[in-house]
Order: sequence, then structure tokens, then C-alpha cells
Amino acid sequence: MNPCNLNQLGITREAPWAVGHFNIHNQEFIRAVVQAAESERSPAILAVGMMSVKYMGLQPLISACQSISRETEVPIAVHLDHARDLDTVKQALELGINSVMFDGSSLGFEDNVEKTTKVVQMAHDCGATAEGEIGIVPHGTASVSQAEMTDPALAVEFAERTGVDFLAVSLGSVHGMKSAGTSLDQSLLQRLHEQIPVPMVLHGASGVIDDQITMAVENGIRKINVNTGLKVVLKSYLSSRLIEQPESDLLEDLEKGIEAVAGSVSARMRLFGSSNRA
Ligand SMILES: [Zn+2]
Repeated sequence: MNPCNLNQLGITREAPWAVGHFNIHNQEFIRAVVQAAESERSPAILAVGMMSVKYMGLQPLISACQSISRETEVPIAVHLDHARDLDTVKQALELGINSVMFDGSSLGFEDNVEKTTKVVQMAHDCGATAEGEIGIVPHGTASVSQAEMTDPALAVEFAERTGVDFLAVSLGSVHGMKSAGTSLDQSLLQRLHEQIPVPMVLHGASGVIDDQITMAVENGIRKINVNTGLKVVLKSYLSSRLIEQPESDLLEDLEKGIEAVAGSVSARMRLFGSSNRA
């Protein structure tokens, strides 16, 4: 069955747990996520983002995700993260990706609706799922302005008109945070959950404190995106390892690095409530 789309991971709008979306950049990250998914008996999403595509190439990354996920029985989806043009979406779908996110958050509302609707149709024609975004989750700034937060009425209209399977919303988190210190607007999230007909997605989770993640799952978040936090784990593990054991074999260093990342992924799966759901 692997790899599968997001609807095949067992998440629903109502079920009180969220699936982890983990950005992967090379084989080490892919193996770390799959190892954690197996040890936690948890579904997981291997996410291919644009920086990693620039680093590794779209085809090599998708193909590595597909072949490694076929080695396991726990459900694993391969998902394109933050595509900003239809050509990249088309290429990824042609390579057999199971899910795509189109990020039209920087576009005007009508333009975002129009392009996201096309992406949803392209994805569904291939049996893939589609995620859109309404509101803006900024990158690397200190905070999120009120104007960037998701407007409930626009979000409902966006979800209904585009037919997205998952909707990314802006609640106060920021992309690219190396440590957790951010809180979310939980009352906005509760209002969104009452009104929006599809499961919601939290981006920028590396910067959000654990208690706020737990509350966000209680209040309706069903997919949680983690990227920077895992890079930080691998970099900090390898930097101390290289100082402490300069004579060790590099492959052994990388293998231990995979274990360190897998440990961090497992902890997040438990936090999100996805352990033992596979
Ligand atoms: Zn994101």
C-alpha cells in the first residue's frame, strides 16, 4: 500500500490526533522518519520542500521516499510541500507523488482560489490529495500580524470553492524557528474548527511550545509540519560527535545521526497522538 495519500493515513477531521509531516532532505532524514514510524506504529508523512528539491532534485528525492517507504508496513505518504507554481505540482504528480500542497498564500484571494482549484483537480485526477493555504505563516519573523492570521469566513469560502482535502491556517506560528517559544491563537482555531469542513494543518511547528501543540490537536489541528527542528537535531548531534570522535567512520556518524533524528521524530509522534494508530 505504500506510499499512500493523506486520506489513507487514517486522519479525519473529528479524530483527536494529528499526523506528523516531516520535511526530508536526503536519505538520512527519510530513514529517520520511517524508523520512528515503525517503532511508534505511527503513520507519517515524508515531505519534499522546495529547498530540498534545490539541494537534491525532485526526482531523486521522490524516488528515494517511494523506495524506502515500500520497505515498511506502517502507512507513509509522500507529499510536496509549499509548491508555488503549477509546473512543479505537475512534475511531482507525474513522478507519482501522493499528495501536494499549493501555497498561494502570497497571492490575492481570487488568484489563490483559482490556482488551488486547478491543483486540487490535477491531484485528484492522479488519486493524490491536495492541501491549500489561507492566511500567511511567515518565515523567520518574530511574530504574526493580525492581518496575516486566517480569517474564518474566507477560510470556509476557500475550502468550499477549491475542494482542498487539507487546509493550512495561520494561528501565530512562524516558519524556520530553531527553538520553541511561540503560542497559538487557540480561540481562533476553535472557531475555524467549528466552521471549516476539512482537516486543518499547522505549519511552523518547530517554533511552537509542546503544551500549545497538545491544545492545537484538541482544538482541531490534524496535520503538523516539522522541518527546522529536525535539522537542528542532526546538526547538533553531528557537531558534538565530530569533536568527541574525530577518528570514527563517517557512515557510523551518519547512522548515529539518523538515530538521533528518529528519536526526535518519535517524541513528536507521541506528542501529536499518532503513536499506535498504524
Ligand atoms: Zn510550511
